[in-house]
Amino acid sequence: MSNLATFQLLEEAKNSILFTAVRPEIVMERGKGMYVWDTDQKKYLDFIGGWAVTCLGHSPDVIREALHRQSSILVNASPAYYNKPLIEFSKLLSEVTCFDRVFFASSGAEANESAIKLARKYGAKVLGGAYEIISLVNSFHGRTLATMSVTGKSYWKELFSPKVPGFKHVPLNDIEACVSAIDDNTCAIMLELVQGEGGVHSVNYEYLKAIREICNEKGILLIFDEIQTGIARTGKLFAYQHYEIEADIMTLGKGIGGGFPLSAMLTKEKYNIFESGDQGGTYSGQPLAMSVGYSVLNEVIRLNLAANAEVQGKYLIDKLNEIKDTYQLSNIRGKGLLVAFDLPLPAGNDLVLECLGQGLLINSPNSNIIRLMPPLIVTNIEIDRMISILSVSLENIYHARRLTR
Ligand code: PLP
Repeated sequence: MSNLATFQLLEEAKNSILFTAVRPEIVMERGKGMYVWDTDQKKYLDFIGGWAVTCLGHSPDVIREALHRQSSILVNASPAYYNKPLIEFSKLLSEVTCFDRVFFASSGAEANESAIKLARKYGAKVLGGAYEIISLVNSFHGRTLATMSVTGKSYWKELFSPKVPGFKHVPLNDIEACVSAIDDNTCAIMLELVQGEGGVHSVNYEYLKAIREICNEKGILLIFDEIQTGIARTGKLFAYQHYEIEADIMTLGKGIGGGFPLSAMLTKEKYNIFESGDQGGTYSGQPLAMSVGYSVLNEVIRLNLAANAEVQGKYLIDKLNEIKDTYQLSNIRGKGLLVAFDLPLPAGNDLVLECLGQGLLINSPNSNIIRLMPPLIVTNIEIDRMISILSVSLENIYHARRLTR
């Protein structure tokens, strides 16, 4: 039962916020490290991490300090001018990746829109007007019209028709299907190295190697959407480093700002082909965002959170394996701290709500899939705690559904 102030806030929310999602009857108020608290002061252990965003945990000092420092000097210079943190952050990103050039935006979808535009620009300039992009079934690339069109979610197919034309979808890890989809109109192939929203399914090495070779052979671009996998999430600073295979374009979002709205599209020098006015945005390279991004990335590197994601990701998978038989969990999978497993029945939402009641935040991207993407600062103490809350919650769900184990 929530207190009166929370009740009033919820009433106001229902009367003023446009409905776009079913949300539980709580209001989040503050966060620190691995925890968030609601307005009734209930504490939640966070294994959603702001949707794979809060890589440094909640309210890290580096973000507060960067915002304080930069907001006392320059909040907004306009995208018409260079600013110092923009230059510093672009340089840092080109030093820690295989890319030379960076364009900044605020959300992952915008970074992907930039990638789509750059690929089409390349198609227009170099491939005789080719504009089609091949992406994967079950992929997720954003919620603008073009990024919804490149996304491979089947139930989005008819939504907001007509979609932006020029996108084809092929199954994950099926080289033949991809080869057959390529024609003279293809300018790029776009994929996530681990499909996050699609339920944590990885591209395999042989597939990626073949796709890279096909792109080289045909002169078409390869785009990696690392919005969810980038910034140390999978146990390397970028997921492409697991494969030692490079893309021509890479997009970043989520963890790049540690919770501050920020995204980027990176590419190689030879694709530095936009003409003035082709791409831009009021907040592209905005000093506050640049200052935060620069500080977050330096902190992720300083704390070696890629190594922590690798170690704790393995520990998390070991712990899930220990309770696997008891609760009939299957397909425990993932890379670093992007982990998922399947439930024996479509009870994902019920489990999410049960865990919420027990003070744990988890995500169910599909009715029988549970996804875990905690902040990259997580330790085995929080993982043990999460496993014990998850076990109690599974017990309760099964009991309620009278499922015999
Ligand atoms: N691409 C991937 C792989 C994502 O996981 C997401 C968001 O979940 C996006 C793009 C879209 O990012 P945003 O919601 O910041 O627009």
